[in-house]
Formats: sequence, structure tokens, C-alpha cells
Amino acid sequence: MPAAIYPGSFDPITCGHVDIARRAAAIFERLVVGVYDAPAKALLFPTDERVKLAVIALKDLENVQIAAYGGLTVDFARQIGAKVIIRGLRAVSDFEVEMQMALLNRKMAPDLEVVCLMPSLEYSFLSATMIKEISKLGGSIEGLVPAHVENALREKLRRDDGGPHSVPRYLNS
Ligand code: ADP
Repeated sequence: MPAAIYPGSFDPITCGHVDIARRAAAIFERLVVGVYDAPAKALLFPTDERVKLAVIALKDLENVQIAAYGGLTVDFARQIGAKVIIRGLRAVSDFEVEMQMALLNRKMAPDLEVVCLMPSLEYSFLSATMIKEISKLGGSIEGLVPAHVENALREKLRRDDGGPHSVPRYLNS
């Protein structure tokens, strides 16, 4: 069985990501979780913190390694000798983006295959973006991210903006 790479921003890693990594680790001999250092979106955690949170979240999976990378995912996959790119599919909305990315990657690297895995139903509505939003607004994210990620989010947001905004403001009074 060839090695596989699971690339993404992991900002931060959620139980959905862990679910996909666990499934991939059960299929492939070796899985490298690739933490992309410069995604085209605003990041909450710097690369080293995203890596650290992923390392702790996946520490019980013996055949999984975590590495930061930059540049093209296909180049990184080649560097580490991976033949398969793992992606997670939550809903139909993910499909279009993943299909486009998979076909573009195939154009650049025909020797790599993309394998999409579906998470448990309980995580199929989860995204790191939503987690950050709920957390920012003071909502509970218990059970949606590992406990150490929950703490890291709380700490980061406390330092960033002084906590949730819960006082209603009536614009017409
Ligand atoms: P992106 O690659 O768009 O920056 P992420 O870094 O958040 O997205 O996620 C990396 C991969 O993990 C993507 O394939 C994404 O679809 C998948 N993923 C994210 N959250 C979940 C989830 N809750 N369940 C399954 N797959 C997920």
C-alpha cells in the first residue's frame, strides 16, 4: 500500500479532520498530514501552532506524521514519496471544489490519485471556519474539536479581542 498525504490548512484541526486522518491511517501504511503554510484565507493560528495542535490530536496514530509545507501539494507529495492525496468530503458543496482541485492536480501530476473519504455523520457539518466563528462569539465547541484545541482557541481569542460581544445594541434607540 503506498504512502498518502492529507493536505489542508488545519486552522485549527477539528474532530472532522481527525476522523478523516484516522480512516486514512487505517487504509494506508503511512500517512503524512501536510499543514499548508500559506492558504488563500485569513489564518487564526500560525503554521507552527497548527502543526503542534495536529501533532497532539493525532499522537495515538503510529503511522501518521505531521509536516508543514509550502508550494504545490503535488510537489510536496512527490518529495515525501506519496502516491495518494486524501481529502475529506462533507457534503455536495465540497464535491465541486474537490473535483476541480483533483483534476487540476492530475493535470500537473498524473501519477498521483486523489481519494476522498466521508467523515462520521456527526462531523459532516463541521468546518474550522465555523468553529472559529462560534468560538469567537462565545458558543460551545465541546466535542467538535479535541480538548487541547478548545483550550488553544479560548486562549487565542481571549488575547486577540477581549472575549465575546453579548450586549445587544439597538440602532434606533
Ligand atoms: P482547506 O483545504 O479548504 O483549507 P481544511 O484545511 O479545513 O480545508 O481541510 C482539509 C481537508 O479536510 C479538506 O479536504 C476538507 O474538505 C476536509 N475537511 C475539513 N473539515 C472536515 C470535516 N468536518 N469532515 C470531513 N472532512 C473535512
